[in-house]
This record gives sequence, structure tokens and C-alpha cells, in this order.
Amino acid sequence: MAKYDTKDIRNVAFVGHSDSGKTTLADALLFRGKAVGRLGSIEEGTSVFDFEPEEKERRTSIDLALASFNHLGREINLFDAPGYSDFISEAICALNAVETAVVCVDAGHGIKVNTRKVWDRASRIGVARMILINKMDHENADYAKVLTEIRESFGRLCVPLVLPVGQGAAFKGVVSLMDKSDPPADLASLAAESKESLYEIDDTMMEEYLEGKVPTPEEILKALPKAIADGRIVPVLCCSAKKDVGVTEVMDFLAKDLPSPLEVKTHNGIDPEKKEPISREPKASAPLSGQVFKSVADPFVHKLSYIRVYSGTLTHDVHVFNQRTGKAARMGGMYKPFGKDPRPCTAAIAGDIVCVTKVDELNTCDTVCDPAHVIHYPPYEFPTPMVSLAVEPKSKQDLARMSESVHKMAASDPTFRFHRDVGTAELVISGMSTLHLDIVIHRLKRKFDVQLVTHPPKIALKETILGQAEGHYKHKKQSGGRGQYGEVYLKVRPTTRGEGFKFTDSITQGRIPQQFVPPIEKGVRETCDRGVIAGYPVVDVEVEVFDGSYHDVDSGPESFKLAGSKAFKEAFKAAKPALLEPIVNIEIVVPAQHMGHLTGDLNSRRGRIQGMDAQGNLQVIRAQIPMKEIMTYSTDLHSATGGEGSYSIEFSHYDPMPQRLAEEVIAKSTVHHKEEEE
Ligand code: GDP
Repeated sequence: MAKYDTKDIRNVAFVGHSDSGKTTLADALLFRGKAVGRLGSIEEGTSVFDFEPEEKERRTSIDLALASFNHLGREINLFDAPGYSDFISEAICALNAVETAVVCVDAGHGIKVNTRKVWDRASRIGVARMILINKMDHENADYAKVLTEIRESFGRLCVPLVLPVGQGAAFKGVVSLMDKSDPPADLASLAAESKESLYEIDDTMMEEYLEGKVPTPEEILKALPKAIADGRIVPVLCCSAKKDVGVTEVMDFLAKDLPSPLEVKTHNGIDPEKKEPISREPKASAPLSGQVFKSVADPFVHKLSYIRVYSGTLTHDVHVFNQRTGKAARMGGMYKPFGKDPRPCTAAIAGDIVCVTKVDELNTCDTVCDPAHVIHYPPYEFPTPMVSLAVEPKSKQDLARMSESVHKMAASDPTFRFHRDVGTAELVISGMSTLHLDIVIHRLKRKFDVQLVTHPPKIALKETILGQAEGHYKHKKQSGGRGQYGEVYLKVRPTTRGEGFKFTDSITQGRIPQQFVPPIEKGVRETCDRGVIAGYPVVDVEVEVFDGSYHDVDSGPESFKLAGSKAFKEAFKAAKPALLEPIVNIEIVVPAQHMGHLTGDLNSRRGRIQGMDAQGNLQVIRAQIPMKEIMTYSTDLHSATGGEGSYSIEFSHYDPMPQRLAEEVIAKSTVHHKEEEE
């Protein structure tokens, strides 16, 4: 059994912009906390947290990684989340599984786009927050400037509790406001102001202060974890992880001053039968409940599922009950996460995190619980992946393994999706960015030996007609023996958009015998599937066969099928053929200063603005736009807004493509060239 209680656990996620030193700090804490004998280093590829080959190669975090250490009797579970927005799903998973988010900020570069994004996420999820200004030794470090920026962006609840002594090359150490020692002279007024803010974190303390009684450091420290949990204060600390200055103070703070699982709001679930909200007490003795916050598909250990236990105790000898599937399965093993070398354990109590292996159907966000006390924890909210690629297996062997391995990747990465496009029949994968998809493809090869070839997805265009016309074809062949004969006259006209294909037989006086009408329809339908002008399926066309002729001996179904197809092609081409293109509804969220540029850009992409609204200090633009025009919008919006914009799309309808563009598509189509040759 665990050697600690729920009250001793601290779950802490390091989030923020990439390169702010999160991994370096996490490694330094493990080393100082004596959980490892040697300090891990990103540069040397020995970090406990960046151990995947893709991370070592790129020297950056891609996956959420975990490890724990024990300090001052507290079990501190560290979650090191990647800082790139391409891998935001990993940070979202971490934020949902912890009590406190440590938002890391680089003292030399200040707040960046992703700092704001994770800050907003953390506040939406409702976790407690603290800010850590790292790299105080950096030559550009400017504490006062970064602190001002933090308070302007995130509010005056951000209160420095630890102040730096010097900065840049002169950074010597830190002074805590709770210490008896004087604050650095240049920060004396900031120290005084911060102390005043601390008196307000607890109502009783504030009342006493107003009556003239200054709270003692002991009183403040006692009230601090709850105040942090309730969001009444966001402590700001500082250090240099690399130079190991201020790291001990950070470590003490995590252990002593952050809230335990008992001090935060209880996670709310739903009774799946009654559909009513329920919750479980975060006690080791309560019925078991927890949620999978990360799962990894691995060909060797099969499935790794990381679980945050909310209530009860999960032991290695019970079957894990998955609320989603209603099935219980035996686990392969149970481990306390520790980088790539998780440590075997036998139980995980309420508040703790644990990793179980070989429970195949246990995916990210699944609820595990006591089958006699079922509860469902809602899935986390993830952004919709917007960057897509069409993929094909490189070889037959790849084809055999592709489907299963792509499924496995999607089950463990909530921002990786795939679907077979009904319009183009392509397998399309979607992710947060090109980099994200590159990593997925690399992993499919490394882990599952599946090689995929990628190309931009085709747009599911359709062919239709805008006018009416008639077509005629007489198929006649005499090549010794029985001949071939069939003649068809037909008319085509457009139907209402979305009505599809209609076939009518208005042949009179038996000019074509009844048994030859279905072959004519078959010939027309097959041509519709293949397309007439550009190789896309034909839609919204009514075909009426009204005349023809036959031969008693030579006519057969094949002749009429062919005549039907050819007559249809002739009529189609004469009836003002057009291409239909998918139009999507797009919703773009950007800071207001980008509005003018973006609306102009949408117009130049044939977009039609439908409305604009303010959402806090952001603006929302709604428009309809052809899918063709936004195939690379993710990259374009990123560069136009410095990464501050986001968007989502959904299919709206099909519209005729402007003729100039349709002609370009037709000119490139192989169907067109084949037709020319015939
Ligand atoms: P992460 O992307 O936020 O996890 O950042 P890393 O821990 O990977 O660090 C990014 C780079 O900053 C690495 O080259 C680190 O060696 C360096 N770094 C980390 N902490 C500090 C620090 O306190 N001071 C300085 N000067 N460099 C640091």
C-alpha cells in the first residue's frame, strides 16, 4: 500500500510556452528530491521526461510525461506537458488530472501566445494556478517587466511570494516574503504591496488586519493552500532551473503550500442511469472512481493507460471496470509513472496517479469505477483538429496493418482523427498541425511498422448540369456471328439541389422492349458514378429515356447499357455542365486587431462574411467559404496572427464552382483527357 495519504499528495502540471524550461525544472526537482541519482539533461538526451525518440531527436517535449518524488513527507506527482500548441491535447489532459497548474514563463521573453492559451484553459477547467518565472539567470532576464506583463495579462491576483536577488548574470538567489530576511532593496515596495495582498486571502485574516492585527507568516501559510485552490491568489515564484538557484524554494513551495486533493472542489460525475450529477468523496475508503487522462498504444506492452484516481483505491489484483464499455478486464501490471521506467506498485489511493497495462479498450477520458457504484466522468474538451492529409499505405503489408494501427493512434490521441471521405474515397487523417501529423506518421512507422504515403486531400467535388439537353446514341456492330444493336434517345434536366439522381422511362409503343430499360439505367448510373467531365460523381440530374430502336436478333442488354451511357454523356455535355464544390461554415476567433486584415483575406478567398461578435477581448468572425480556399488556412491563420487565431469549420452545402476554376479542374482531369482520346 502507498506510504502516504491523500492529504499528502500534490499533483502539479508544468505548462506554458515551449522553451520556458519546464522539463529542465522538472528534472532538477527529481534530482533534488533524490528520486534520481543523476540530473537528467535534455541536451544529453538523459531527461526523465523527454524520453521518446522523437523528443530526443527534436530536443523538445511532444508527450505529457510524468514522474514523482517525495519531499517533506509529500508525494509530488509532476506532469511535464509539452509547450507547443500542436500538442495542446497533452496539456489539456494534464490540467484535467491535477490540482495545480504551474504556468512557466521565461524571464527573458515573457508571456507568449501559448502561455495565454494554457492560462485560459486552466481557468476554464478550474484548476488552481501558480506562475513560475524561470531563466532568471538569462542575459535578457527582466523580472519587473515580466511581472508587470503577467499582472496586466492575468490580473492582480498574481502576487509574488518569492523575489529575486539580482538578475541575469547577477542572479544570486531568492527571498521569500515569509522569511524574516529583508527583501532586495530594489523590490521593497513590491514586497510591501504583495504582503498586503496576502492579508486578503482569507476573510477572517482580512477582518483582523483591518482591525489592526497583522497576520503572522504562520497564519498566512496556513490559509495559503485553500486560497490557491479557490483562485483567490496566484502565487508568483522565480528561479533558474538550469543554474539550480531558487529550485529548493520551488520544491518546498510545491510540497508545503499547494493544495492537496482534499482541498479542491470534488470532481463531478454523472449517474449514467439517472443522468443526475453525482460525486465521490476523495477518500481511499470510498467506492473506486477515476479517469484515464492519457493512454498510449504500444506494440510491445500493448496499451498503457494512465489513471487519475478520484476516489477509493485501485489495486493490482482487481479487474478494471470500464464504464464506457461496461466490461471489466484484468490488467497486465500496475505502475507508478516515472518517465520511461514506471515503477511497479500494488495500489493507488484517491488523489494519486497510476499506470495500468494491457487493458486494451481503456482510452483517454474513459471512466474506471467500482461496478457496484457506477459513475461517469465527462470527457475533457479538446480543440477540433483542422489540418488534414490523405494517406495511402506504401505497400500491401502496410495496407494490412494500417487500419488497426491508425485506430490505435486515434484512441490514444484525442486530437488525431481519421475518416474515409465518402466523396473521394480517400483515407483522411486530421491533426492540430503539419508537425503533429508528421509525428503521428513517424510513430506509425516506428511503433507499428506501417509506412504511409501522404498527399493533400482531394476536395469532394461533384458534377451536375445547369440546363436541359437531349442525347442520342446508336450502338451497332457487325463482326461476324451475332451482331450488337441498341439505340437510345434521352433527355437530361437538373433536379433541385440535393435531390440526387432520377430516372424516368417514357418510351411508348414498345420502341425499346421493357427488358432493355434496366440496362440503359445501369449504363447511365455507372457513368454518373465515374463522372463525365472531370471524374467526379454526377448529382442532381433527371434522366428521361423517351425513344430508341432495337433489333430482334442483335439487341442485348450490353448494347443498351453502352448506348445509354453514351447518349447520357452527349446530353450531359450539352446541358451546361458544372462542378459543385463544398461550402463550409467557418468560425474564426482572433484578437480584435487582426479583424480588418482577416475579413479582407476571407473576401479574397471567395468567403461571404455572415456576422461578427465580440467574445471577451476576442472577436468571432462567421463566414461561408469554399472548402478549396481554406485547405492551408491553419498555417495561413497562424502566420497572420502570430499563432493567436483559431478556427473551426463544418460542412454547409454544395454550390456551383465559378466557371474559370471549374475549367482549370476539368483541364487537369484524366477523365477529360481519356474522353478526348476516345
Ligand atoms: P521546455 O520546452 O519548457 O520544457 O524547456 P526546456 O526545459 O526543454 O528548456 C529549453 C532550453 O532552455 C534548454 O536549452 C534548457 O537548457 C534551457 N533552460 C532551461 N532552464 C533554464 C534556465 O533557468 N536558465 C537558462 N539560461 N536556460 C535554461
